[in-house]
Amino acid sequence: MEITLVAKKIFHSICDLAAPKYCFLCNKPIDNHFHLSYICPDCFYNLPSASDSNVIISRLLQSFSADDIGVSDIFSLFSLKDTDFLKIVHSLKYEGLYSIGFEFGLLLGQKIKEKNSTNYDYILPVPIHSAKKRERGYNQSLHIARGINSILKTEINEKLVIRGKYTQSQTLLTASQRKENVKDIYRANPTKFNLDNKTVLIVDDVFTTGSTINYLSLTLLNNGVKKVDAATIALA
Ligand SMILES: [Zn+2]
Repeated sequence: MEITLVAKKIFHSICDLAAPKYCFLCNKPIDNHFHLSYICPDCFYNLPSASDSNVIISRLLQSFSADDIGVSDIFSLFSLKDTDFLKIVHSLKYEGLYSIGFEFGLLLGQKIKEKNSTNYDYILPVPIHSAKKRERGYNQSLHIARGINSILKTEINEKLVIRGKYTQSQTLLTASQRKENVKDIYRANPTKFNLDNKTVLIVDDVFTTGSTINYLSLTLLNNGVKKVDAATIALA
């Protein structure tokens, strides 16, 4: 019986390897040698790049005064001006294709390593409320964080901050409603983790207004953290 089971497993692994993968954006088969499994080289190299960190940071000035900006650098891969890319982000978020998150996390990790020399003490995936996690089954930001950490090799810690009340989905809210929605919902956990003088990289899937990332940054800085950066796959 054991042997049959092992044989079955091997058979399924071979099938997985042999099964052609198709591009999420154009449906063309993807060559096995390409380093991404969900997007073909043609589509990948045509994705519009995200702006540089200082340009992304300046977007926070629409919702925050300069004194209230807690995040130092923000790294992102793509701009969502290409609306097709939303299909990928949507799959990552709602259809459980979290290995997409890992693959893009690897790319983000490489970008961060090229652009700066900070040795982060912690990587913090933006926490989602446990009710949402039950509904969705996973936190998509954690899978992106795992990809990043394969490159940066530090510590992922989901418990640095605790998320409070359940907030409604951000998608349909205006910028000011989003800001209210995320205010005061995070508490740091300084008794459990020493945050003094630490550096933290916050990870989220998409940067929209940046309110969540900035409030998380301010919470961490108020609890002894020295520097907070952030990384997202895409910019809305
Ligand atoms: Zn394609």
